[in-house]
Amino acid sequence: MADVLTKEQRSFNMSQIRGKNTKPEIIVRSIVHGIGFRYSLHKNNLPGKPDIVLSRHKKIIFVHGCFWHMHKCKYGKVKPATNTNFWQEKRQGNVERDKRNIKQLKKLGWQILVIWECQTKKAEKVINRIKKFLEQG
Ligand SMILES: [Zn+2]
Repeated sequence: MADVLTKEQRSFNMSQIRGKNTKPEIIVRSIVHGIGFRYSLHKNNLPGKPDIVLSRHKKIIFVHGCFWHMHKCKYGKVKPATNTNFWQEKRQGNVERDKRNIKQLKKLGWQILVIWECQTKKAEKVINRIKKFLEQG
Protein backbone atom coordinates (compact mmCIF):
# COMPACT_ATOMS: atom_id res chain seq x y z
CA MET A 1 0.00 0.00 0.00
CA ALA A 2 1.26 3.46 -0.90
CA ASP A 3 2.48 5.65 1.90
CA VAL A 4 -0.38 8.04 2.44
CA LEU A 5 0.93 9.78 5.54
CA THR A 6 2.30 13.27 5.28
CA LYS A 7 5.54 14.11 7.04
CA GLU A 8 3.58 15.95 9.72
CA GLN A 9 1.28 13.02 10.31
CA ARG A 10 4.17 10.65 10.58
CA SER A 11 6.08 12.73 13.08
CA PHE A 12 2.83 13.08 15.00
CA ASN A 13 2.47 9.30 15.04
CA MET A 14 6.04 8.76 16.11
CA SER A 15 5.82 11.34 18.86
CA GLN A 16 2.75 9.52 20.12
CA ILE A 17 4.57 6.22 20.04
CA ARG A 18 7.50 7.63 21.97
CA GLY A 19 5.44 9.65 24.43
CA LYS A 20 5.70 8.21 27.90
CA ASN A 21 2.17 8.99 28.96
CA THR A 22 0.47 7.91 25.80
CA LYS A 23 -2.41 5.53 26.21
CA PRO A 24 -1.49 2.05 25.01
CA GLU A 25 -4.53 1.88 22.77
CA ILE A 26 -3.60 5.11 21.00
CA ILE A 27 -0.07 3.82 20.45
CA VAL A 28 -1.37 0.63 18.86
CA ARG A 29 -3.85 2.56 16.72
CA SER A 30 -1.10 4.86 15.39
CA ILE A 31 1.02 1.85 14.54
CA VAL A 32 -1.78 0.09 12.64
CA HIS A 33 -2.54 3.31 10.80
CA GLY A 34 1.14 3.92 10.12
CA ILE A 35 1.54 0.46 8.59
CA GLY A 36 -1.30 1.40 6.25
CA PHE A 37 -4.27 -0.61 7.51
CA ARG A 38 -7.73 0.78 8.06
CA TYR A 39 -9.78 -0.24 11.04
CA SER A 40 -12.93 0.51 12.94
CA LEU A 41 -13.06 1.15 16.64
CA HIS A 42 -15.09 -0.62 19.30
CA LYS A 43 -17.45 -2.71 17.22
CA ASN A 44 -20.12 -3.12 19.82
CA ASN A 45 -21.73 -6.01 18.03
CA LEU A 46 -18.71 -8.25 18.60
CA PRO A 47 -17.95 -10.19 21.80
CA GLY A 48 -15.71 -8.18 24.12
CA LYS A 49 -16.10 -4.93 22.14
CA PRO A 50 -12.65 -5.26 20.58
CA ASP A 51 -10.46 -2.15 20.53
CA ILE A 52 -9.40 -2.39 16.89
CA VAL A 53 -11.32 -4.30 14.23
CA LEU A 54 -10.05 -4.89 10.70
CA SER A 55 -13.21 -6.26 9.13
CA ARG A 56 -11.81 -6.76 5.65
CA HIS A 57 -9.00 -8.91 7.00
CA LYS A 58 -11.10 -10.59 9.70
CA LYS A 59 -8.57 -9.52 12.31
CA ILE A 60 -8.94 -8.05 15.76
CA ILE A 61 -6.46 -6.41 18.08
CA PHE A 62 -7.14 -6.14 21.78
CA VAL A 63 -5.08 -3.76 23.87
CA HIS A 64 -5.06 -4.96 27.45
CA GLY A 65 -4.01 -3.11 30.55
CA CYS A 66 -1.55 -5.29 32.48
CA PHE A 67 -3.12 -4.67 35.86
CA TRP A 68 -6.76 -5.06 34.87
CA HIS A 69 -6.26 -8.13 32.73
CA MET A 70 -3.60 -9.73 34.97
CA HIS A 71 -0.70 -9.98 32.58
CA LYS A 72 2.15 -12.26 33.68
CA CYS A 73 4.42 -9.23 34.08
CA LYS A 74 5.32 -7.19 37.14
CA TYR A 75 2.40 -4.80 36.55
CA GLY A 76 -0.08 -7.63 36.28
CA LYS A 77 1.16 -9.26 39.47
CA VAL A 78 0.58 -6.18 41.61
CA LYS A 79 -1.81 -6.88 44.46
CA PRO A 80 -3.60 -3.83 45.83
CA ALA A 81 -3.00 -3.43 49.56
CA THR A 82 -6.57 -2.46 50.33
CA ASN A 83 -9.75 -4.29 49.32
CA THR A 84 -7.49 -7.01 47.99
CA ASN A 85 -10.21 -9.61 47.53
CA PHE A 86 -12.54 -7.18 45.80
CA TRP A 87 -9.92 -6.22 43.23
CA GLN A 88 -8.70 -9.77 42.77
CA GLU A 89 -12.22 -10.94 42.00
CA LYS A 90 -12.80 -8.07 39.63
CA ARG A 91 -9.57 -8.76 37.76
CA GLN A 92 -10.17 -12.51 37.72
CA GLY A 93 -13.55 -11.76 36.20
CA ASN A 94 -11.88 -9.77 33.43
CA VAL A 95 -9.49 -12.61 32.67
CA GLU A 96 -12.33 -15.12 32.41
CA ARG A 97 -14.36 -12.78 30.25
CA ASP A 98 -11.36 -12.22 27.96
CA LYS A 99 -10.94 -15.96 27.51
CA ARG A 100 -14.62 -16.43 26.69
CA ASN A 101 -14.66 -13.53 24.21
CA ILE A 102 -11.54 -14.66 22.38
CA LYS A 103 -12.87 -18.20 22.11
CA GLN A 104 -16.14 -16.91 20.68
CA LEU A 105 -14.43 -14.57 18.23
CA LYS A 106 -12.18 -17.38 17.00
CA LYS A 107 -15.26 -19.53 16.45
CA LEU A 108 -16.66 -16.71 14.31
CA GLY A 109 -13.52 -16.84 12.18
CA TRP A 110 -11.60 -13.87 13.55
CA GLN A 111 -7.85 -13.85 14.06
CA ILE A 112 -6.88 -12.25 17.34
CA LEU A 113 -3.82 -10.40 18.57
CA VAL A 114 -3.54 -9.27 22.17
CA ILE A 115 -1.13 -6.44 22.84
CA TRP A 116 -0.28 -5.80 26.46
CA GLU A 117 0.21 -2.35 27.90
CA CYS A 118 3.81 -3.12 28.94
CA GLN A 119 4.64 -4.22 25.38
CA THR A 120 3.64 -0.84 23.98
CA LYS A 121 6.61 0.66 25.82
CA LYS A 122 8.98 -1.10 23.42
CA ALA A 123 7.99 0.59 20.18
CA GLU A 124 10.11 -1.43 17.78
CA LYS A 125 9.09 -4.81 19.16
CA VAL A 126 5.41 -4.00 19.19
CA ILE A 127 5.53 -2.56 15.67
CA ASN A 128 7.08 -5.80 14.43
CA ARG A 129 4.49 -7.95 16.16
CA ILE A 130 1.61 -5.94 14.73
CA LYS A 131 3.17 -5.95 11.26
CA LYS A 132 3.61 -9.71 11.34
CA PHE A 133 0.04 -10.23 12.49
CA LEU A 134 -1.50 -7.91 9.90
CA GLU A 135 0.63 -8.97 6.96
CA GLN A 136 0.13 -12.71 7.39
CA GLY A 137 -2.75 -14.27 5.44
ZN1 LIG B 1 2.38 -6.53 31.08
